[in-house]
Amino acid sequence: MSKPDIARLQTIVGPEHVKHDPADLYVYGSDSSVHRAMPDAVVRPGKVEEVQELLRYANESRIPVVPRGSGSGMCGQVVPIQGGIVLDTKRMNRILEINLADVYCRVEPGVIDDDLNKALKPHGVFYPATPASSRIATIGGEIANNASGVRSVKYGATRESVLGMKVVLADGSLVTLGARTRVEASGYQLERLFVGSEGTLGVLVEATLSFVRIPKYRAMGMVLFDSLDDAGEAIAAVMGKGVALSMLELVDSVAIRAVNTAMDLGLPEVDAILLVEADGMVKEAVEYEVEAARELCEKHGGKLTQLSYDPAERARIFLGRKKLFPALSKFSDTMVSTALADDMAVPYSRMAETARKIHEIAERNGVVMTAYGHCGSGCMHTKILMDTASSESWEGAQRAVAEIYEYVRSVGGTTSAEHGIGISKADAFKREKADSLDLMRAVKRAFDPNNILNPQKLFDAPRGWLTATDLRYVASR
Ligand SMILES: Cc1cc2nc3c(=O)[nH]c(=O)nc-3n(C[C@H](O)[C@H](O)[C@H](O)COP(=O)(O)OP(=O)(O)OC[C@H]3O[C@@H](n4cnc5c(N)ncnc54)[C@H](O)[C@@H]3O)c2cc1C
Repeated sequence: MSKPDIARLQTIVGPEHVKHDPADLYVYGSDSSVHRAMPDAVVRPGKVEEVQELLRYANESRIPVVPRGSGSGMCGQVVPIQGGIVLDTKRMNRILEINLADVYCRVEPGVIDDDLNKALKPHGVFYPATPASSRIATIGGEIANNASGVRSVKYGATRESVLGMKVVLADGSLVTLGARTRVEASGYQLERLFVGSEGTLGVLVEATLSFVRIPKYRAMGMVLFDSLDDAGEAIAAVMGKGVALSMLELVDSVAIRAVNTAMDLGLPEVDAILLVEADGMVKEAVEYEVEAARELCEKHGGKLTQLSYDPAERARIFLGRKKLFPALSKFSDTMVSTALADDMAVPYSRMAETARKIHEIAERNGVVMTAYGHCGSGCMHTKILMDTASSESWEGAQRAVAEIYEYVRSVGGTTSAEHGIGISKADAFKREKADSLDLMRAVKRAFDPNNILNPQKLFDAPRGWLTATDLRYVASR
């Protein structure tokens, strides 16, 4: 692979939109994962034609290109493992159309999720995939990761809202995929291939998204459990009975303690909390779902508290969950929260067992782990809390990660629910998808024969996440 000619890049996007001094390159060398690597240049195109010209040049010269939104990904997806160009999409941040009659909007890839929802709100509609990182995550990054969020239990992950898109391919050509209509049966659903493609197939330059009506009523409450197992059983019961909640989130005791230490929220120090929410246009319908959830949770030892329809009160109830990820680093003065084995999905019937397993595996390997997440959609988050200065901790983390993924595979779960694969999860992903990796490689070759787009990710990532790149941390003792 070659290095980019800075003068050529400056001609394409203008000198002010090319960064190449070491401080800037360092910032663009990491995301929210444990990985780090230096790019050769950061380029910030402002329009589709510039993206096309950039890719034409990179393809002819065999220069790696890593598309990047906000860099909030958790698995090293935007870490430029072979150097090259980081293509920052944040200047392409226009909302191009909000079409209420036809129920879609068109946006550029660098639009921030919260900004889209701010623009939609006066029209009484919202874009529902919304990850907890919605304040920073871009629509391009969400699509390329198939992000989901607290309300995905009712409204689906990103893939359910993507109708179509425009993509610049590796050779600089522009293609339009999908449609603007709700349904389409016109051949291969190529836009679906780009959902979860992690920047390896093309650069998304426009997305057509559907949206939904903002419900008139939302009720949220906390269900307290003295046993994590019981909370897991309650999740399976609620989902198994088809209770139509708009949110069902688990927060375990490690997470509760971290949030209380970091934010002094005074969350009840129980073994587990479930946050439940129902929404709808008719209050009785909302009450019906909340009552059904309450009944099933009570059967499993839960106690519903703080139920409220008031937006400010709901925001207060949700605050601890919303700020959970940064709060985890406050669990202890000597431990840092790392995004490792952090977002599996498991069948509902295995939720309780998975939560318990996570704690057992952590203890056996000398690290601390949490069990939390959008459990209503099958997602089970963890973070590994450890002393990142200690090489022993990294070894323990490595063993814990391998054990967790082996367990998840054994119960029919999947490596990632929403954070994607990147570098950190590639080993587990390759094991889980062993019989379809050749198909994925063939797809990659068809779209990007010279392998310039985000190389060495997913099926192509180096074996062994711990040594695949430099770490963002210094492990010295
Ligand atoms: C505190 C915190 C909370 C989080 N909570 C959630 C959550 O609840 N749910 C969830 O799903 N995720 C969550 N995440 C992870 C992350 O925020 C999401 O995956 C998000 O979608 C990434 O968006 P981004 O703009 O930062 O993308 P980046 O990290 O910049 O990129 C992600 C991937 O998308 C590709 N990409 C970006 N733009 C384009 C484009 N235009 N064309 C082609 N490929 C592109 C990149 O190459 C990369 O592979 C969280 C992260 C943090 C830090």
